[in-house]
Amino acid sequence: MIIDCHGHYTTAPPQHAAWRQAQLDAHAAGHPAPPCPAISDDELRASVADNQLRLLAERGADLTLFSPRASAMAHHQGDEAVSQAWARACNDLIKRVADLFPEHFAGVCMLPQSPGVPIARSLPELERCVRELGFAGCNLNPDPSGGHWTSPPLTDESWFPLYEKLSELDVPAMVHVSASSNPNFHAIGAHYLNADTTAFMQLVTGDLFNIFPGLRLVIPHGGGAVPYHWGRYRGLAGMLGQPPLDEHVMGNVFFDTCVYHQAGIDLLLRVIAPENILFGSEMIGAVRGIDPQTGHYFDDTRRYVDAVPLTGEQRALIYEGNARRVYPRLDARLRAQGR
Ligand SMILES: [Zn+2]
Repeated sequence: MIIDCHGHYTTAPPQHAAWRQAQLDAHAAGHPAPPCPAISDDELRASVADNQLRLLAERGADLTLFSPRASAMAHHQGDEAVSQAWARACNDLIKRVADLFPEHFAGVCMLPQSPGVPIARSLPELERCVRELGFAGCNLNPDPSGGHWTSPPLTDESWFPLYEKLSELDVPAMVHVSASSNPNFHAIGAHYLNADTTAFMQLVTGDLFNIFPGLRLVIPHGGGAVPYHWGRYRGLAGMLGQPPLDEHVMGNVFFDTCVYHQAGIDLLLRVIAPENILFGSEMIGAVRGIDPQTGHYFDDTRRYVDAVPLTGEQRALIYEGNARRVYPRLDARLRAQGR
């Protein structure tokens, strides 16, 4: 089977985003937020039927690890209470979609992060999503300030309560920023890729996986600039007195295939071991158009992976095996379904 490790609910019924705006408006005015809007199961079904579900079928993939819209997490907006309510509303919708289409979606939650608020405050929602809602992982925003990088690096002790909880729950985190509130950084074209690259270098300079040997982090968007500059990172690890990257980080770090052209995927698969790559498309999300050079959607990433000469075993790892290993709760869910 083919598991897409990177999908967001970008097509939620419009009253969901309208409520978010009403929530932020109420916060700015010093009023309580209005109650969450009613959204019917039929509206949820319709929101994915002709979108993610259709594309899964057309592209021959089976299941998407599905999380709230990344750019809308916007942890920098409102305050902690606003983030808590928004995360809960977003995660509850993901749960409902996963329940409506259990063979095609498995939940991944957003955390109710807020700048300057200890990460421990996000753990109850993580625990609710994993233990009560059956989610398989979470998205971790390394920069809840939205492009101003006011939090310490991911290797700082202040993040450790999250890593302890992830280890206890045996779920991974995808390192994924949200919208940019800094006009220097376009969210999707710069902030996302900067964050992927930044997170990796933080892990190179730190010693996180000696402390949390079972922790697994997925760095999306093909690992940002990292595979392209792999020699730089190998060299820097040596200069910094760190062990080789394979020992130091690559037992715990995984990249997805959200790179939207063939040459980029060719490079990714040539540089990074297949054991460290999870198939992902981020559809329907970041780049929605058709590539005039190929006539196919930029985010139809299966075409690129299929075009690379791999052994059957390597291909199976990238499409399925690695995801089941990195997300054991997904594996358990699939086994329970007889898959
Ligand atoms: Zn994403």
